[in-house]
Amino acid sequence: MKSNLLEIENLTVSFDGFKALNNLNFSMDAGELRVVIGPNGAGKTTFLDVITGKVQPTQGRVVFNGCNLRRISEYQIARMGVGRKFQTPRVYLNLTVRENLDLACNRNKNVFSTLFGRPLSSDRHTVTSLLETVGLVAKADLQADLLSHGEKQRLEIGMLVAQSPDLLLVDEPVAGLTDEETENIGELLLALAESHSIIVIEHDMEFVRQIARKVTVLHEGSVLCEGSIEEVQNDPHVIEVYLGQTPSSEVEN
Ligand code: ADP
Ligand code: MG
Repeated sequence: MKSNLLEIENLTVSFDGFKALNNLNFSMDAGELRVVIGPNGAGKTTFLDVITGKVQPTQGRVVFNGCNLRRISEYQIARMGVGRKFQTPRVYLNLTVRENLDLACNRNKNVFSTLFGRPLSSDRHTVTSLLETVGLVAKADLQADLLSHGEKQRLEIGMLVAQSPDLLLVDEPVAGLTDEETENIGELLLALAESHSIIVIEHDMEFVRQIARKVTVLHEGSVLCEGSIEEVQNDPHVIEVYLGQTPSSEVEN
């Protein structure tokens, strides 16, 4: 029997009666790279908040790896293998790139043993391979606050990968990045998608075109449509939601 990595059924989240998510259904196979788009206020961040346990559903359920996440804490969900990358990088600015990755690889040890203890050779190998994956070998001994914004984003993605998540959630990773940095992040996500299941929330349509295989469009808390980037871009409902008018009403106006 095939089971999906993530199965969301009839999910509603109300804030004082306002439905940020409204009877949303979504499912995703293991190994997928899924891009979720939608106008401001569509419910994209709330969608991630429910998967990570930050927000509890009013109705419906989220099933991750066959386990209903109802009443499971944010911390436990993270331990179960859901890793989240927030929009602004959360790295230790006064530590080097290598030390940041060391910390991420040694989550259960305290900071002191990580900084002053001797990392095991297997940990070393992991840090070295992570540095290669995120393209920061040359900057390994640089303090993180000297990195560009895009490099910080890549470092934080490396720190998430260090925890071997089964599902990686990435919220608007290229907001405020240069074109070159945007392309680097795109390549990194595509490389990670070879061996990870990933949900990327994104606004930048050029970036979406670079990485997208299957796209889910959210609107007013529900799934408006789903398909390839071409299918989604040609969908009249999507055009209406993004441009605020249909081609025919444009003529009438
Ligand atoms: P998106 O990320 O797609 O821009 P959000 O998920 O942040 O959308 O928000 C969806 C809607 O829910 C918005 O109208 C927002 O104002 C509302 N909302 C989000 N979080 C809260 C909250 N904690 N309390 C009240 N309203 C909220
Ligand atoms: Mg948001």
